[in-house]
Amino acid sequence: MDRVEYLIVGAGMSGLAVADRLGRDRSYLVLEADTEVGGYCKTIRQDGFVWDYSGHFFHFRHPEIEAELTGRMREQRVLKVVKDSRIYYAGKMVDFPFQKNIHQLPHDEFLECLHDLYFRSADVPTSFLEMLYAKFGRAISEKFLIPYNEKLYATDLGTLDVDAMGRFFPHAELDEIIAGFLKRDNSSYNATFTYPEGGAIQYVHALMSGVDESRVSLGERLLEVDLQAKVARTNRRSVRFEHLVSSAPFDVLLRAAGVAFDPAVYSYNQVEVWNLGFDRKGPEGHHWVYFPQRDIAFYRVGFYDNIFGSDRMSLYVELGRKATENVDAHVAEQSLAAVLRDLERVGFVAGHKLVSKHHVVMNPAYVHITVDSLRDVAEKKALLRERGVHSIGRYGSWTYCSIEDNIVEARALVDELVGRPRD
Ligand SMILES: Cc1cc2nc3c(=O)[nH]c(=O)nc-3n(C[C@H](O)[C@H](O)[C@H](O)COP(=O)(O)OP(=O)(O)OC[C@H]3O[C@@H](n4cnc5c(N)ncnc54)[C@H](O)[C@@H]3O)c2cc1C
Repeated sequence: MDRVEYLIVGAGMSGLAVADRLGRDRSYLVLEADTEVGGYCKTIRQDGFVWDYSGHFFHFRHPEIEAELTGRMREQRVLKVVKDSRIYYAGKMVDFPFQKNIHQLPHDEFLECLHDLYFRSADVPTSFLEMLYAKFGRAISEKFLIPYNEKLYATDLGTLDVDAMGRFFPHAELDEIIAGFLKRDNSSYNATFTYPEGGAIQYVHALMSGVDESRVSLGERLLEVDLQAKVARTNRRSVRFEHLVSSAPFDVLLRAAGVAFDPAVYSYNQVEVWNLGFDRKGPEGHHWVYFPQRDIAFYRVGFYDNIFGSDRMSLYVELGRKATENVDAHVAEQSLAAVLRDLERVGFVAGHKLVSKHHVVMNPAYVHITVDSLRDVAEKKALLRERGVHSIGRYGSWTYCSIEDNIVEARALVDELVGRPRD
C-alpha cells in the first residue's frame, strides 16, 4: 500500500495552494478526478478567444499574495481595470449596485424606491430575503434584488442565511444611498479588478510552479476514506495517510468517509455558462451587465472584449439552474437558442455572426448557505479534524469565497499542520 504524509484531494486553487505551501521536501500526493488541473479556475483558448469558466476576475485583499503570484507568471501581462458594471432595467443601463443608483430609474420608480426605503420595516431579519426587505424596503427588493438573486441562486431566498453572500453583497446605508444621488460613488469590494491576459488559469500555473508535477495524479478519484485506519481508496489504489486535506465538495467527502448527514442541508445551484465569440464588436465599455428580468434567460452577461480591448465581441453568459436539472445536450441546445434570442432582444447582438462557442456547467456553483448548513459544516469539520481529515476550499468549506480566500485558507491550514508560525 502507498503511504504519504499529506494526501490532498483536488488540484484546484485550494489543493494546489496546499501542495505549494507544503513545499517539495514534504511527502504529499494530490489526487485529481479530472484529467487537468485547475478545478473551476480553468481557461479555454478557442478561435482566438480566451474564456474562463464564467467570469473570473480578481480583487486581492492581500497585495503581497497578488504580487507573489503575478511574480511567478512568466511573460504574462496582468490587466488592471476600473470596473464598469451595469444593470439592464426598463430598456436602459443603470449603474450597479441598484440600491445606490435608484435616482437613475424612471421618476415614478425612483420615488417608489425612495419611499419604501425610508419606510422599511424595522424587524430583525432571519433570512436573506427578510434582510433585503429590512435593509432596502419593498420596491428596491422586488424590482432588482429578489428577482436577480432568485435567478442566480435558483432557490427560495427565504431559506438562505441572512449573511449568505458575506462580504460579496453590496451593502449600502440610507445616508450613503442619498449622498450618492449627487456624487457618483459605486465603490464596492471590487471597484477595480485584475485579469491576466492568459486567463484565470495563469493563477493555477503560478501555484503549479511550486508543486512537484509528478506528485499530482490526474484522473484519480477519491472514493472512500477509512477514518479509523487512515486509509483512502481511489479508483486506482489504496493510500495510507497521516493528514488528508480535501477540497472536494463537503457532501462528497462526508459520503466517502461514511459520515451520515442530511442531504437536504447541502443544497446548491448549477451555473450554466455559454462563452460566445462573434465576428465583430458589440456594445463598448461595459464589463458585465446584470439582468433581473424573469423572462430573460440569463442573469448576467460579461464582455471579455471590453476587458481586453479586442475588436470582436466575446461574451460569457450565465444562467442559474436548480441542482436537480439535467443539462443534457438537448437542454443545452434549447438554452443556446434562448440566449441568442435574448441577446438580440437586449440589443447586444444586432446582425452579428456567432463564430465560436463553448459550453460548461458548473455543478455545484453557488452553495446555499443556510443556518443549518453553517451549523452542520462546522460540527462535521470538527469531527473529521479529530481523525486528521481537513476539508477546505469553496466547496470543501461549503461557502462563498474567492480564489484569494482559497489560498489564505490553504496556507493557514498547512502552517498549522507543520507547526510553522503564521506570516
Ligand atoms: C460562477 C462563479 C464565478 C466565480 N468568479 C470568481 C471570480 O471572479 N474571482 C474569484 O476569485 N473567484 C471566483 N469564483 C470562485 C472560484 O472559482 C473558487 O473560489 C475556486 O475556483 C475554488 O477552488 P477550489 O480548489 O476550492 O475548488 P474547485 O475549483 O472546485 O477544485 C476542486 C477540485 O477537486 C476535484 N475533485 C472533486 N471531487 C474529487 C474526488 N472525489 N477525488 C479527486 N478529486 C476531486 C475537482 O475535480 C476539482 O478539480 C467563482 C465561482 C463561481 C462558481
